[in-house]
Amino acid sequence: MKYRRFSPHFVIKDGIHGLGVFTTADIKKGKVLFKLKGTILDHPTRTSVQVGKYQHIEDIIGAHVNHCCQPNTKVYKRSHVFKSSRNIKKGEELTFDYSKNEASLAAPFRCECCGKKVTGQKK
Ligand SMILES: [Zn+2]
Repeated sequence: MKYRRFSPHFVIKDGIHGLGVFTTADIKKGKVLFKLKGTILDHPTRTSVQVGKYQHIEDIIGAHVNHCCQPNTKVYKRSHVFKSSRNIKKGEELTFDYSKNEASLAAPFRCECCGKKVTGQKK
């Protein structure tokens, strides 16, 4: 897989579930990692990130951040940013918890770490 470099701090390459976003530097807890800049849709897609009740951003980096039940990032909906929720080592894959962030996933799937079905907040 060819690396695609988006900023001094991230590359996109094969991750836990398709492509993933990886750090190229150590990052401390509580740092802004990047801001979601893409188109805002009123419905979720397979790759969108939810930031409001009817607001789903289709962003090139956000689209590739995979799910994990013990994530290392969190989405701040009001400011449209991803922040580190713990210290992250160089080379780690960035993840966030889709079950907490998304009301309802466009494409539910089984979690790679625990095998639970990830569908969003709605059960
Ligand atoms: Zn899991």
